[in-house]
Amino acid sequence: MSESEFESESESESEFNPHEDRDQAIQFDPEMRSMPREVRNVLHPVRMEGNTPFCFRCHPEIACFNACCSNIEIILTPYDMLRLRKRLNITADEFLYQYATPYTLTKGQLPVSLIRMDPATGKCPFNTPQGCSVYEDRPVTCRYYPIGLALMHKERTTGNEAFYYLVKESYCQGHQETTEWTVDSWRQDQGSDGYDARNQGWMDIILKRRSAGDEVQTSLQLSEFFYMASANPDEFRRFVFESTFLSRFDVPEATIEQLRTNDEALLDFAFDWLKTILFGDKKVALKPKTP
Ligand code: SF4
Ligand code: SF4
Repeated sequence: MSESEFESESESESEFNPHEDRDQAIQFDPEMRSMPREVRNVLHPVRMEGNTPFCFRCHPEIACFNACCSNIEIILTPYDMLRLRKRLNITADEFLYQYATPYTLTKGQLPVSLIRMDPATGKCPFNTPQGCSVYEDRPVTCRYYPIGLALMHKERTTGNEAFYYLVKESYCQGHQETTEWTVDSWRQDQGSDGYDARNQGWMDIILKRRSAGDEVQTSLQLSEFFYMASANPDEFRRFVFESTFLSRFDVPEATIEQLRTNDEALLDFAFDWLKTILFGDKKVALKPKTP
């Protein structure tokens, strides 16, 4: 989807069930059955690599324009929320109250946020007849579409393997277009790469938590820390500067200065700290105890 392709009025509304194809596909594909629900819901069983070609084009004149922006579960990554908050010029609390709904990942039980669809219409709150009103700052899931990113994780290992699936929903007519892409050229065109890099720490934690298996429970307090760090960096900043945090953790002065004003640096630090307290990764050192 190029930016200009979201500029004119939609001509049709979706009358399709976006979950029907997925449910049928999952029945025939054992690998998809073993995926967490929130991942498999957006996948079609055609495994793709970075150089796999596909044809796709989305534009305002297409009959299904805007059909994909309703009744969907879009997980908001920390960097998605940061970009959207800045665009809307609102605080993290205001963003969560107005646009997000909490959701617990099936495996690993970590809390994340979904875009809250309008309860009356089922539409994404950022959807307009002209297309996406936050297009330049749209979430990474919307950037990937119609590609699904699957991050498979073998139980009790630390190895991650990223691969892609074509999301081929019956209502999406972009697949009948002839513009050719590879997964890599599509990701580059849509700006997905920068988002993935910014969200890496968050993804690492989700995947590592999944790999621990079902019997390892995340305590309520650790879940709350994870949600605060991912979804509410304003609160995490208050936690760093207004609690005993800096007397307990050995944070270099230069980092402290960055954390005061730089939201991206705050996110990176938050996930390093979470890896320390969740997995003992020693990314953020404890201060030595005074005798
Ligand atoms: S359903 Fe597909 S082609 Fe139609 S607007 Fe959405 S992404 Fe574009
Ligand atoms: S953020 Fe934009 S592209 Fe994504 S679902 Fe909402 S309106 Fe559609």
